[in-house]
Amino acid sequence: MSYWKEWVAKEEKLLREKDNWRTLPSSQGTAPGHIIRDAHHAVLSFASNDYLGLAHHPAMIEQAEEALRTHGTGSTGSRLLTGNSTILAELERALAAWKGTEAALVFPSGYHVNISVLAAVTTESSHIFSDAANHASIIDGCRLSRAKTFIYRHNDLDHLRQLLDASVGADRRFIVTEGVFSMDGDVSPLPELLHLAEEFEAVVVLDDAHGTGVMGDKGRGTLSAFQLHSDNVWQIGTLSKALAAQGGFVAGPRALIDYLINKARAFIFSTGLNPAAAGAALEAIKIAQDEEWRREHIARQAEFLRQGLKDLGYHVLAPGILRTPIVPVLIGSNTQALKVAQALWHQDIYAPAIKPPTVPPGTSRLRLAISAAHHEDDIERTLAAFRRIKSDLVGFDGTDEGTQHEYL
Ligand SMILES: *Cc1c(COP(=O)(O)O)cnc(C)c1O
Repeated sequence: MSYWKEWVAKEEKLLREKDNWRTLPSSQGTAPGHIIRDAHHAVLSFASNDYLGLAHHPAMIEQAEEALRTHGTGSTGSRLLTGNSTILAELERALAAWKGTEAALVFPSGYHVNISVLAAVTTESSHIFSDAANHASIIDGCRLSRAKTFIYRHNDLDHLRQLLDASVGADRRFIVTEGVFSMDGDVSPLPELLHLAEEFEAVVVLDDAHGTGVMGDKGRGTLSAFQLHSDNVWQIGTLSKALAAQGGFVAGPRALIDYLINKARAFIFSTGLNPAAAGAALEAIKIAQDEEWRREHIARQAEFLRQGLKDLGYHVLAPGILRTPIVPVLIGSNTQALKVAQALWHQDIYAPAIKPPTVPPGTSRLRLAISAAHHEDDIERTLAAFRRIKSDLVGFDGTDEGTQHEYL
């Protein structure tokens, strides 16, 4: 046996004991609103981040093909060397215009953005204030920065104020939050948060991965949904979710973008975005602005699902001030959440169990994300499945209370 296999096996055993060992799901690919298990078998999917239902859109594919023909299959180098083609500049102009900022900068992924922006703007004397429900890539970004990080309770501005009050001697302050929280489906209270930030001269770093294309007028995002504009908010987004392409971006003042070109290591030391992804993203930005019906359809279906699940007695996390396409159904333990997910799977519905460390222990849940590709009868079928699960699963009445109170 190789000398490393023993500790790998030990770690695997620990995860398996907690029902927390992950494997890749078997799937041949996706179709609008579905995943394809095999040639004859499509499964209704609520796991995708393709909110606007664009991943198979003919115009998207055409623009990706066009970009490939013109710019090649790869961008061939770092943006600072050979990887900077006109299509990326065009994409950055389109993103800035859409987001209403002076400039934008595209990265190979949203993850690249989050692991490098905070590190690029902080020093050892800086303080970062990070929402407890922030995405793993933000957590990694805080770790990679040399700044001191303070975690405030999810969306709890009183707690944030206490931490800001106590933070003396910081040279720079940053508050980092998601716009739409991916696992809770609620939004950050941005008007009050920005007010607080400005009082303490802190920059708000807003990761709107799940708000971009989905929230606000023309899908401009959560900041726009609150009708806010400020140079003190730096917007981060991804091209990989509602825009159904791949890549990440920062949108903000020109001075910030020029600075990041010099300082963001994951931008500098990674190959420029693939031309096909840029072509698709450009088309998606157009569709997101032109086709309001996609967001209206999402809102209607999400409300139908949310209300239907509540009527069945499930514990749906409250969306808060603004509605989002994410409907989280709180279950509690990993074991019970997995059972519900498996029971849905047996009825050809894919709504994965979300477990720690993605969410806090005791708050395992099913996360259902509505897409413009879902139809009303898809939701009806899903509600019928949830109804059956409640009567079939022994000892299960919709939620596994008792383990979750610390968090809620
Ligand atoms: C998905 C996600 C990211 C990462 O974006 P990718 O483009 O997929 O790398 C960053 N932040 C949040 C909140 C996300 O949900």
